[in-house]
Amino acid sequence: MTLDIRDLVVEHRSPGRPVVRAVAGASLTVSPGEVVGLVGESGCGKSTLARAACGLNPVTEGSITFEGRPVAPLGLRRRRETGIQMVFQDPYASLNPRRRVGDQIADGLRTARDTAATPADLLERVGLPRDFAGRHPHEFSGGQRQRVAIARALAARPRMLIGDEPISALDASAQAQVATLMRDLAVDAGAGLLFISHDLSVVRLIADRIAVMYLGRIVEVGDTAEVWANPRHPYTRALLGAIPRPDGMGVLPAELPGDVPDPANPPGGCRFHPRCPLVMDVCRDEEPRFGPVACWLHEAK
Ligand code: SF4
Ligand code: MG
Repeated sequence: MTLDIRDLVVEHRSPGRPVVRAVAGASLTVSPGEVVGLVGESGCGKSTLARAACGLNPVTEGSITFEGRPVAPLGLRRRRETGIQMVFQDPYASLNPRRRVGDQIADGLRTARDTAATPADLLERVGLPRDFAGRHPHEFSGGQRQRVAIARALAARPRMLIGDEPISALDASAQAQVATLMRDLAVDAGAGLLFISHDLSVVRLIADRIAVMYLGRIVEVGDTAEVWANPRHPYTRALLGAIPRPDGMGVLPAELPGDVPDPANPPGGCRFHPRCPLVMDVCRDEEPRFGPVACWLHEAK
């Protein structure tokens, strides 16, 4: 019942441009009823990984299986039957503006061959009035629209829900509510939830485990409370604003120097080394390709 992503590589190719390894060898699992938060700066490959995990992006190397069966590559119809549903960042784009939301939710019910539930039932489950089924997407606020998108995803009875920045387009007041709603609905249904966000405080609120991604790789994975209390990878520490100084004298400032390097031309050795305040010689030469913390400071002895 687990979503199992192993050594995943996803390359983007466009004519006349260098190949971009958006995901460069990432492994991650999400179990039923488990909430995994995937965090990292924009451009680190989170969305590409998510899209590959539900068959929307071709896999270059590695594998993605769900419940023991390969997920990618699948056509649209078979994808609907995988039991994986995705909620996207922009509910304005993912809902059809010309159709009543009840009809769009009914599509999901048909996918699940669910004749007992109605669109109004689904709206109620996501905290919206039942009579909203007759309305069109433009009649809703951003937060309400995202609730509709969640209702549509849930209607298909997913056993795995993937949210790709599902709250980042919402007002601050709606963000925690929508994130908590997704968590509660997924857990109640016994489904896994892979929740992608650059907002660590929300991920902390809802996730059982955190995976931190940097330039196509997962650099740290762990229990949310443990990562929060004791972030080990210097990048995780930077995201959390808590890098201890090498001399033990307090903490370094939270701001990371420089931008995320170009994924078409990643730095050699540890991909984080040009920005890492704790860089050592070995970091420039050899990439730390191990887990759960991919950093030479935490090499398993
Ligand atoms: Fe920093 Fe080296 Fe660890 Fe990379 S391997 S994060 S450069 S200390
Ligand atoms: Mg993204």
